[in-house]
Amino acid sequence: METQWWNLKAPALRELAKQKNAVVIVPVASTEQHGPHLPTQVDCLLVGEIARRTAAQTSKTVPTLVTPVVWSGLAEHHMSLGATLSLDFDTFFAVLRGLCTSLTRQGFRNILLLNGHGGNIAALTVIVNELAPALGAPIATATYWLLAQAEFSKILEKQQNVRHACEAETSMVLALKPELVDMAQALNAVGPTSPEMVDIVGAAAHRWQSFRARTSHGAIGDPRTATAEKGERLLQAAADAVTKLICNATFWTTPA
Ligand SMILES: [Zn+2]
Repeated sequence: METQWWNLKAPALRELAKQKNAVVIVPVASTEQHGPHLPTQVDCLLVGEIARRTAAQTSKTVPTLVTPVVWSGLAEHHMSLGATLSLDFDTFFAVLRGLCTSLTRQGFRNILLLNGHGGNIAALTVIVNELAPALGAPIATATYWLLAQAEFSKILEKQQNVRHACEAETSMVLALKPELVDMAQALNAVGPTSPEMVDIVGAAAHRWQSFRARTSHGAIGDPRTATAEKGERLLQAAADAVTKLICNATFWTTPA
């Protein structure tokens, strides 16, 4: 089954909207600096690919659609390093409210805002908590590397999970678009370059920090050990984790 919203024609989408168990994945990402060795499209590329692979798997049992990637999110913390296009919260919320409302008005109910950018996590939780009751639909969000945490930690050598422009992100871009990776520059992109606040005060407290205050070159993690082979395994592990969530009927049918 074709799963990409952009590739489908209106009659097919109208028919899919009638199927009560149809799931629409809205990949949500960001366009921002990814150190000296990766392009700014990383988050969009990765979450778009994971959504595509997921839908290819889930559509065998659950009608699944993937919208185009929301390419801008909350990246104010990256502005200090340039190369970044950010929205503010009100605009981000308004964009997602408009997209979710468009979907529910056509009859789609099960909507997954599949996130691929750390700066969006807190906002997306607030947004689905507002939109689900307002639109009367089980609108959900999940961040791919948190869903796949157990598998990711087995695949990665130098870190437990995705950080930024790191072993994980660099590996996945090497698997998909190696021509966009400069591995010579990755040798100089090991971070953070300053002590981490979480190590000083613990994870229970939060304060805003610019990325530049944490890493002078824009990367956190160790991209030197990245390989395309690891990247392929990470992408598939992420798609498998999202597949499991989408195919869990209880996730969508439990009353609000
Ligand atoms: Zn990001």
